[in-house]
Amino acid sequence: MKAVRVHSPGGPEALRYEDVAEPTPGAGQAVVKVDAAGLNYIDVYFRSGLYKAQLPLTLGMEASGTVSAVGADVREVKVGDKVAYTGVPGAYAEYAAVPADRLFVLPSGLTTRQGAAMMLQGMTAHYLATSTYPLKVGDTCLVHAAAGGVGLLLCQIAKMRGAKVVGTVSTEEKAKLAREAGADETILYTKQDFEAEVKRITAGKGLQVVYDSVGKDTFEKSLNCLAPRGLVALYGQSSGPIGPFDPQALNAKGSLFLTRPSLFHYIATREELVSRATELAGWIRDGKLRMRVEFEFPLKDAAEAHRALEGRKTTGKVLLVP
Ligand code: NDP
Repeated sequence: MKAVRVHSPGGPEALRYEDVAEPTPGAGQAVVKVDAAGLNYIDVYFRSGLYKAQLPLTLGMEASGTVSAVGADVREVKVGDKVAYTGVPGAYAEYAAVPADRLFVLPSGLTTRQGAAMMLQGMTAHYLATSTYPLKVGDTCLVHAAAGGVGLLLCQIAKMRGAKVVGTVSTEEKAKLAREAGADETILYTKQDFEAEVKRITAGKGLQVVYDSVGKDTFEKSLNCLAPRGLVALYGQSSGPIGPFDPQALNAKGSLFLTRPSLFHYIATREELVSRATELAGWIRDGKLRMRVEFEFPLKDAAEAHRALEGRKTTGKVLLVP
């Protein structure tokens, strides 16, 4: 079968579309024939070497498709089930062997394209808005990169919970998308000082929470946007890591909270995984949560897809199709 692998870390050119052995299921595993894999920023971190993995590595942490084989002791799924998953490397491939207890069986009415698009970014937006800082009516939150994959979903979920949403984006076109996703206010952080804008929007009071996925370029000002005892959920680093941090700054800026969460700790048990995925899938099926899949690239063009993502050319979800 074909897969996209990294033999040594580097830029998009490090991605190799090549022949590898088709997987067979071990005990507790199922093999998924992949209809679509999701592109996520974490793939860039693994490709570039920011996150370490054993090489060669078949990239990709999210996919959806049909179960084509099951190993011994598998109770969660059967051959023919339409499933989606995240958190298991190896999705940039025609087939993937996945622990069966990580598979979510798609409810009827959901396509595998929707399955591939919802798992990683969708459950991230879900845990950020419902668990890391459970938004409530009266809260104001800041969503950085609000037209991105996680961003557009987070804006919508934050609105569902009754919060006021301020979104940052780099262009007017992205601002329009963020507003369509529910952002009450948008800030062009490439042109405007977002800290000053947030102070203006909140009449100097500050925010309850900042969801910061940009990292290096935004982190310091994100702290300055908070009301006393507010929280920064630093959940990514699209512009680069923030570097060393002195916790005394949290004291000086108003007894702030800082967390660096990861989806994989918020879906660690099967129960939590299935409960988040089920709620999300229900919102999508009922039309309450709109998934924007702007681009589908053939799997062999994964490098092109990476260039688009890193070049800030994408909005919403990008899929790779074997
Ligand atoms: P996005 O679709 O959000 O793409 C990244 C966006 O970041 C860009 O479109 C761009 O939006 C913005 N950005 C700002 N500065 C830069 C820069 N220097 N280079 C590139 N992009 C920049 O990606 P994802 O939705 O896949 O992921 C968003 C973030 O969330 C990533 O940092 C990812 O690591 C993180 N993440 C974390 C998870 C967790 O559990 N911790 C899980 C999932 C994602 P604009 O042009 O508007 O500035």
